[in-house]
Amino acid sequence: MEHPENDTQYKGLQVNSGVSSQPVTNPYRRAAKRRQLTANDYVEGILKGDVSILGRAVTLVESTVEAHQQIAQEVIEKCLPYSGNSRRIGITGVPGAGKSTSIDVFGLHVLREGHKLAVLAIDPSSERTHGSILGDKTRMEKLSQQRDAFIRPSPSAGSLGGVARKTRETIVLCEAAGYDRIFVETVGVGQSETAVHSMVDFFLLIQLAGTGDELQGIKRGIMEMADGIAINKCDGDNVERAKLAAAQFRNALTLFPPTPSKWRPEVVTYSGYFELDVDKVWDMIDRYFAYVDKTGYFERKRNEQARYWMMETIDELLRSSFYNTPVVAALLEQ
Ligand code: GDP
Repeated sequence: MEHPENDTQYKGLQVNSGVSSQPVTNPYRRAAKRRQLTANDYVEGILKGDVSILGRAVTLVESTVEAHQQIAQEVIEKCLPYSGNSRRIGITGVPGAGKSTSIDVFGLHVLREGHKLAVLAIDPSSERTHGSILGDKTRMEKLSQQRDAFIRPSPSAGSLGGVARKTRETIVLCEAAGYDRIFVETVGVGQSETAVHSMVDFFLLIQLAGTGDELQGIKRGIMEMADGIAINKCDGDNVERAKLAAAQFRNALTLFPPTPSKWRPEVVTYSGYFELDVDKVWDMIDRYFAYVDKTGYFERKRNEQARYWMMETIDELLRSSFYNTPVVAALLEQ
């Protein structure tokens, strides 16, 4: 007998013989091969706002495989006429400034206003680590559960120029899919801000108070690009310091040359974590958009950005066609 416990001399517990274990793989499941979509399938799905197809199209945009790039370029071209109808907002700040916490609450704010939001990121450091942190869904807990929010981490391969181009192309796809608010997040420590600045309408710098030298850690050039500075963590013991920092930033800004839009960058304080004065941040952004709509700067900047990206694309094509010419490749080898 297999189980001595089942002998009649014992009372009480009996052991059942059990079932032999099933094979772990399901023989009835068809090989999960996804149908190859054509460029037109992608475009149709995107225009319908199909999130899964949008996600797959973005993956194509990010792919370095030549065949993927070909479809991606066709999809982008076909989506272009449906893009542009959005507010693109760049958000930067040093690590720890509270970008993800803030984007979570800013995002819910714009969703409550009835918009659809895409959160993208440019993080060239992900080249090195092969894992991008910015724009990661796990960092934006509340937002990532919202149906009308599309969150995508930074493309990870390639140069800053390449990463930036992919993000820009992703903006086109998202807009065509009906996302009328776009956030582009970046770490405010280096080069990528210039790239983000060249693709957004409003550039928000998230700053902290109480770190001693208030301008520390953030490059002056980044401050010059900002259309608004939001001082985060204005809560608890930090309120006084945050207000003081705001005054210092306002002062510092008066020393900068006027912005091309003639808009005077504003400084506000808020708390992302405790959701205090988040409205103040958005009132500032709304004021900016009202202002640039009135002056025509909105259109002008979009046109300038389009020209900038056209030149960038030409440069890139020239460079890659030069290096890929067999003669050149051979000579370089020599
Ligand atoms: P990121 O690196 O810029 O994305 O910053 P995080 O959003 O991850 O925030 C960094 C830390 O600051 C986290 O521990 C947050 O909980 C905290 N934090 C973010 N916003 C606030 C705020 O408004 N007030 C306070 N007291 N802490 C905050």
